[in-house]
Amino acid sequence: MTTQTSEEIIEEQVGTADEKPPFSLELNQDQKDIKEWVHGFAEGVMRPAAHEWDEKEEFPWEIVQEAAKIGLYGFEGIAQFFADESGLSLPLVNEEMFWGDAGIGMAISGTTLAVASIFGQGTPEQMGEWIPQCFGTADDVKVAAFCASEPDAGSDVSAVRTNAKYDEAKDEWVINGQKAWATNGGIANIHVVIATVDRELGSRGHAAFIIPPNTPGCEQGAKVKKHGIRASHTADVHLDDVRVPGNCLLGGKEKLDERLARVREGKRSKGQAAMATFEASRPVVGAQAIGIARAAYEFALDYAKERVQFGRPIVENQAIAFTLADMKTEIDAARLLVWRASWMGRTQVPFENAEGSMSKLKAGEVATWVTERAIQILGGNGYTREFPVERMHRDAKIYDIFEGTAEIQRLVISRAISGHHIK
Ligand SMILES: Cc1cc2nc3c(=O)[nH]c(=O)nc-3n(C[C@H](O)[C@H](O)[C@H](O)COP(=O)(O)OP(=O)(O)OC[C@H]3O[C@@H](n4cnc5c(N)ncnc54)[C@H](O)[C@@H]3O)c2cc1C
Repeated sequence: MTTQTSEEIIEEQVGTADEKPPFSLELNQDQKDIKEWVHGFAEGVMRPAAHEWDEKEEFPWEIVQEAAKIGLYGFEGIAQFFADESGLSLPLVNEEMFWGDAGIGMAISGTTLAVASIFGQGTPEQMGEWIPQCFGTADDVKVAAFCASEPDAGSDVSAVRTNAKYDEAKDEWVINGQKAWATNGGIANIHVVIATVDRELGSRGHAAFIIPPNTPGCEQGAKVKKHGIRASHTADVHLDDVRVPGNCLLGGKEKLDERLARVREGKRSKGQAAMATFEASRPVVGAQAIGIARAAYEFALDYAKERVQFGRPIVENQAIAFTLADMKTEIDAARLLVWRASWMGRTQVPFENAEGSMSKLKAGEVATWVTERAIQILGGNGYTREFPVERMHRDAKIYDIFEGTAEIQRLVISRAISGHHIK
């Protein structure tokens, strides 16, 4: 796909477009090609495997490897999608993958959480060193994990207890704590861990650390048995006197010390920047939810045209047809929010009303509602594991929970629109 080195690709991607492309709903040829290419993989490889991996509840290494072989999983692929100056390629790719299957989709895309963190907070040298190691190669595929949540720190990230202490004599950080719910936790080559360096400062005393491959003391804890996205691996991660070199602190020590000094003096931290990063990443998650919703809607529409009761296809009942009309309308509305926020994030239009959170909130709730309605349209068949809408409904529900619950999105939006500190 490309012969550039990782450093060259990163340097090219770090900046944003000089001229902001206008927001457009008309896809250009590159975007259409990417969409069609991912759709082909989703339809030909992911869909046929979806049921099997959901039942097995195991990480589908061979499918991730197939994705790597065609360039869909890997550093160059991500860089290519991110390079789209309109910001639409990333949601397009995610919608198509999750239309194929959400569990496998998360197995393929889970690494990007860690990559986004390195990309957002790392120095160019750190990006060049660690991002390629998150993916490995097509012959030796690796994954990465982003570990922020803990048993007592979910929505309340400021409660993170995992701590990092600097050992000046050895220029090493010593990390101790327990992480919960980590996607790819324990099976990852690279773990990005959020730890506190000063608990009194709450989330402003946090820093992100790279845990290099095979570092002693970093171990997988219990694997989580889940309701949905069961092909994706989720586990606790134990961090027991984990020693990492000083340069594993993302952004570097000088920058951290400056930031902490600013905060201790009561000056503004870079909280605004962190918020902008979340706002920019949330639409991508929203696009995944839309992919699931679209898959369930399409299945229900086809079924409603085929299934005959009372001598006519069930779609000829307004109760069914109007539900399908609402499903399609809601999906399209959610997609517009996602595309708007993706475009804003890429072109650095300020998120004055938390438009990224709006897109994730809407897409998650649409996916949960649409997949539940799809089960209803299929009747008894919808409730069985023989038909995919049951799985899609289980998969969709996570979009009301992770990457900020629906309530937390509403908190962010209500604070942004009101200027008040809503609790
Ligand atoms: C499958 C899966 C994968 C995950 N992957 C990762 C990962 O890779 N990395 C990672 O760091 N984390 C991950 N998480 C964790 C996820 O981000 C958290 O589950 C999520 O942030 C919610 O935290 P919690 O589960 O502790 O719920 P809690 O924070 O305990 O919330 C419980 C309920 O209370 C509500 N609530 C809490 N505070 C408020 C408030 N102030 N106002 C109104 N309502 C509130 C919530 O909305 C929710 O409904 C994953 C979780 C799951 C289930």
